[in-house]
Amino acid sequence: MAEQDYDYDLFVIGAGSGGVRASRIAAGHGARVAVAEEYRIGGTCVIRGCVPKKLLVYGSHFAEELQDAANYGWKVDQTSFDWPTLRDAVLRDVDRINAGYTATLETHKVERFLERAELTGPNSVRLTSSGREVTAKHILIATGAWPVMPTFEGAEHCITSNEVFHLEHLPKRVVISGAGYIAMEFAGIFNALGCQVTVVNRSETLLRTYDQSLRDRLLQITMARGIQYRFNCPFDKVVKRDDGALEVWLKGQAEPLIADQVLVATGRRPKIDGLGLETAGVALGERGEIKVNDQAQTSCPSIYAVGDVTDRVQLTPVAIREGHAFADRVFGGQDVRIDYRCIPSAVFSQPPIASVGPTEGDARNAYGSIKVFSSDFRPMKNVFAHRPERGLYKMIVDASTDKVIALHMIGPESPEILQAAAIAIKAGLTKADFDATVALHPSMAEELVLMR
Ligand code: NDP
Repeated sequence: MAEQDYDYDLFVIGAGSGGVRASRIAAGHGARVAVAEEYRIGGTCVIRGCVPKKLLVYGSHFAEELQDAANYGWKVDQTSFDWPTLRDAVLRDVDRINAGYTATLETHKVERFLERAELTGPNSVRLTSSGREVTAKHILIATGAWPVMPTFEGAEHCITSNEVFHLEHLPKRVVISGAGYIAMEFAGIFNALGCQVTVVNRSETLLRTYDQSLRDRLLQITMARGIQYRFNCPFDKVVKRDDGALEVWLKGQAEPLIADQVLVATGRRPKIDGLGLETAGVALGERGEIKVNDQAQTSCPSIYAVGDVTDRVQLTPVAIREGHAFADRVFGGQDVRIDYRCIPSAVFSQPPIASVGPTEGDARNAYGSIKVFSSDFRPMKNVFAHRPERGLYKMIVDASTDKVIALHMIGPESPEILQAAAIAIKAGLTKADFDATVALHPSMAEELVLMR
């Protein structure tokens, strides 16, 4: 088919972070672009992920500020918290950003189909509500990932992160299954809002991919704050009582936990169900992810995929970069590749964790000889508020080159501090460069240039 005979130059399935960015950049390069979205424009990050989660973290953090306020001279007589007020304000902000994303697509003349799209071949898709079939020279799959709900009796009584933003009431007792990103972030939110929280994991650890010392510190602080843990305890079943309470039976435990809400946060799986990938010969990997080469191209040359559906690094900024690079390559004639090294990440637990580069264990394996520097300190704000919690920063240096290869931090504002420090690490700066930088005093970030 000649290029002009296709309905579009690019058809994007999924208007989340990766899909929206690819659509608007491709349109900016002059491509005729359409995007299909079966739910709401914005995708997981905006609608039911990073953005509303961060707002809940902000909202819940006032509990700590209000507690500490008296030490700073404030008389705070009576405080109370109203979940529907926060929930509805967060959902209104989600609407605002959703409208912003929609406007961006409109401005760039990207045609929008608010319905599901399925592949019918290498260059065609069917829009399932209208039944319309359209053709495109290139197709981009950016459908993201979906929460995994493991199979156990009573799973229908549990919620995932998709539903947690819409809770009618704040539950008194929450059991969270999993101890990864979502589990630890919501454990912090619910705990700060006064709920009784129990985190249950199948293994013996939390946040498996993070440096051990940060995980230990988070465990210690959150236990002191009242979060309870059950490790090595897979779910057996969840039983709903007549009074509405949930009995959570764990394997190997004689008594159930009692909860008003059970949140399952046990990972997210590429969202590929019913996409018709087989009709176009798009190959999948072992975890059900769409396999792509370093140019985001699938085994079908006209079909590309970016973001969580490829299950490489499940992070919004990575999906955005992948979508942007795809559009610049295919429609802008630029040879852009993504550098997957040195990607910073954070867990918005309370306190938050932030990290870039390998853990100490991985660094030892990869580099052999490393130097480890650390600063274990009590932030000034905590000292004054009689809050015993300590921050911990760890810096890992390649002993043969003096380059700083990793930073691991737990403590107030650590994601904000680490984003800036990650630039230095990405740029390959040495420990001597850090040491040569004058401290900015008094700050927590100054610890980065004072580790000896
Ligand atoms: P994670 O991969 O972070 O954690 C999954 C947790 O569930 C682990 O504790 C894991 O245990 C456990 N688990 C895995 N499979 C099962 C199973 N079949 N049965 C029982 N338990 C299981 O997943 P999340 O759902 O928290 O988050 C998904 C992804 O979303 C993250 O990996 C991250 O990339 C992204 N995300 C990023 C955020 C951020 O950047 N701040 C915030 C939220 C999500 P084990 O200890 O054995 O590994």
